[in-house]
Amino acid sequence: MISPPTTGAYISWPFCAQKCTYCNFASGVQPKGLESDYAAALAVEIAATDWHLLPDTLYIGGGTPSAIPAAEFGDILQGIPGQPWTEATLEAAPGSLTPEKIAAWTRAGINRVSLGVQSFIRSELARTGRKHDAETVRRDVAMLREGGIGNFNLDLISGLPGQTAASWRESLDAVVALEPPHVSVYMLEVDDDSRLGSEIILGGKRYGAFDVPSEDAVAGFYEAAVDHFAAHGIQRYEISNFARPGAESLHNLKYWRREPYIGLGSDAHSFDGTIRWQNPEMAVDYVARHLAGLPLREDETAPDPAEEKFFVGLRLAEGVHTDPSDWDRFGPVFHRFLAAGMMEQQGSWLRLTPRGVMVSNEIFQEFIS
Ligand code: SF4
Repeated sequence: MISPPTTGAYISWPFCAQKCTYCNFASGVQPKGLESDYAAALAVEIAATDWHLLPDTLYIGGGTPSAIPAAEFGDILQGIPGQPWTEATLEAAPGSLTPEKIAAWTRAGINRVSLGVQSFIRSELARTGRKHDAETVRRDVAMLREGGIGNFNLDLISGLPGQTAASWRESLDAVVALEPPHVSVYMLEVDDDSRLGSEIILGGKRYGAFDVPSEDAVAGFYEAAVDHFAAHGIQRYEISNFARPGAESLHNLKYWRREPYIGLGSDAHSFDGTIRWQNPEMAVDYVARHLAGLPLREDETAPDPAEEKFFVGLRLAEGVHTDPSDWDRFGPVFHRFLAAGMMEQQGSWLRLTPRGVMVSNEIFQEFIS
C-alpha cells in the first residue's frame, strides 16, 4: 500500500528567559504581554492553514518552548492535525524541565526532545549567558527517560569563547556518557548582530570576546567530534547532525530532501514542494499583521529545484542521487571537486568527502546561479 504524501509542521516559539550572547535569531526576551497575543495569533494561523497534506512530523522550537507552562502547552498544539505524529520534537532549555511539563508534552503528542546543552563546561556556559551546568543536563536526561521520552538530542556548539581541545574533549565525553540517540554539533560563526559579535568589533572583553578559538581550532573540534561519536556508534548523517542508526531526525530530513513543510509563527519558513515563503521575522510584527488582518506570507520564491537538490542535499552524508540532466548542467563542477578529493562518486550518487565537508559552504556556492 502506498502511503499518502505528508508534510512537516514547524512551530516557532520565539520567547526566551535571556538573550544568549552569541544568538542572532529573532528570539529572546520579548515585550510583556506579547506571549498571550502571540499564542492567539498562532492559533488563528493554525486554524486557517490549508492542511491538504497531513503532518507526520512536528517540531516546536525557535526560542524556548519548554518554558510554556504545563497547563497551557496542549492548547498550542491542539489545532495541528495528523496525530499521533511519527516524530514530534520540542526544543528545551536545560533547567526548564519538570516531571509535570514532560507529562503535558507527552499528552500533547511530543515524543522527542532536543536539549540546548551547548557545552558541559561551566565557564563556557557562563559566557553564553546560559544558567545551567553539566549536572542540570544529567538530571534533565534522567527526567526525560523517566517521563517516557527516550528519544532525545543534545546540541553542542564548537568554537565557544575559551573552548580548548581539552575542554571540548570533556564535553564530548560527557555527551557519550549520556548515551543520546542523536547529537547536533554547530560550529559557531560569530554574527556581528549578536552581543558577542559587537563586543568583538568594539575590541571589548565581555562574553570572552578576546578568547574566541581560531577557525582552524574550531575545524579541529568538529573533526574530533566526528571521530569520537563514530567510535561510539553515533554516525554523522548530515554536516551538523549525528545519530545512532534509526534515530535520525525525520523532521529535519525533510529540509535536506526538499520535502514539504509548513512553518507557523514568526520567522517560520515554509516549502510546499515548489514555492518557498516565510512569515514576518519579528514576533511583534507577526502579531501586528494578524491583528490588522493582513496576510502573513512574505518573500515568496520558486527556487530552481536542480540547484537546491545539490546545495541542500549535499549536506547529507548519503549525498545526492544524480541523473543525466544534472551532469549536463553541473558536469564541470562535479569533475573539479571529484579531482580535488572534495567529492566522491558511487554509481549515480555524489557525496562530499570529509575534506569536502570542511569547505562545504564554498562548494554549495557553485550550485547557486
Ligand atoms: S535560547 Fe536559543 S533562541 Fe533563545 S536567546 Fe538563546 S540561542 Fe537565542
